Amino acid sequence: MTKHNSILIIYTGGTIGMVADEQSGSYYPFDVQVLFSHVPELSQLKINLDTESFTEPIDSSDIGVSTWIKLATIIRDKYNSYDGFVVLHGTDTMAYTASALSFMLENLAKPVIITGSQLPMGVLRTDGKENLISAIEIAAARKEGKPRVPEVAIYFGSKLLRGNRSQKFNTEGFEAFESFNYPSLADVGIHIIYYDQRMLRQAQMDFEVSLKMDENVGVLRVFPGMKADFVRQILNTPGLKGLVIETFGSGNATSANWFIEALKQAIHDGLHVVNVTQCSRGFVEQGKYLTSRGLVSCGVISAADMTVEAAITKMMNLLGKGYVGIEFEKEFTRSSRGERTSYSTLA
Ligand code: ASP
Repeated sequence: MTKHNSILIIYTGGTIGMVADEQSGSYYPFDVQVLFSHVPELSQLKINLDTESFTEPIDSSDIGVSTWIKLATIIRDKYNSYDGFVVLHGTDTMAYTASALSFMLENLAKPVIITGSQLPMGVLRTDGKENLISAIEIAAARKEGKPRVPEVAIYFGSKLLRGNRSQKFNTEGFEAFESFNYPSLADVGIHIIYYDQRMLRQAQMDFEVSLKMDENVGVLRVFPGMKADFVRQILNTPGLKGLVIETFGSGNATSANWFIEALKQAIHDGLHVVNVTQCSRGFVEQGKYLTSRGLVSCGVISAADMTVEAAITKMMNLLGKGYVGIEFEKEFTRSSRGERTSYSTLA
């Protein structure tokens, strides 16, 4: 008798499992069994499915570090019992969770496929059914006895994307996610076409989970007209250890003296500052323009083509593991989970 693959589905909440409140009409997360009752097709899959549900499913806008720790702990504890994992999650912060998990799960050799939907499962035109069924198939897929996708990925709207490269870019369409700086890992049509050469290489070392995420971090999106007081307040946040600045174009920001001096002082005092571009596609190239020279001189670290979701969660992870100063910079500028394109490729 052939052994069927076993997949654990972890239900956190999100639109896929929501129902509308009778009075207000607002969606709220509901029971996982109701969700599955809408997908009788699951019994046709030749895959063993188990489910684990958060006791109180949540809208993903309420997700925080404690949720990531909960998810990573479930995966750690069940890692040896399953061939892959499917996480059902709201779309709003899915890219943050995918990025966080990609850093927390070390030497991952099994698929962790995150999905959800734009319309709840009980709604006639729901996109949830296809997303769920394909995500399960992908999590169970093997080639030459090995998992086909040994990484954290988002499956949504016919595309499988690297988790830490994904961003929610559409509140309306069924294709809600895009990976602007890295091509899809698989495309789903009549067939599921996997691009094996784009996947992370199978981990050789033992699977481990790092559960410490330092929340003393922040994001500052620069804008024309930004006031010195505002920036100084942010830089003086008590306990702040890391800051992502979202800059213009290829990594530029105001060259005003007060800005550069404030950053220089903060970095000198131990703050880690990384530079992510506000553009969806392309990368930070500090020093290309005079308006980013100052950032180089005061020690701002380039995030190259990383997303802001990947940058902030990688920062939490590295600071949580105790990386500081030059060691932090070394780790941050190294692509550890395929989250950034290496400089030699960019040059
Ligand atoms: N607010 C919902 C959530 O992120 C949206 C969704 O699931 O699409 O949980």
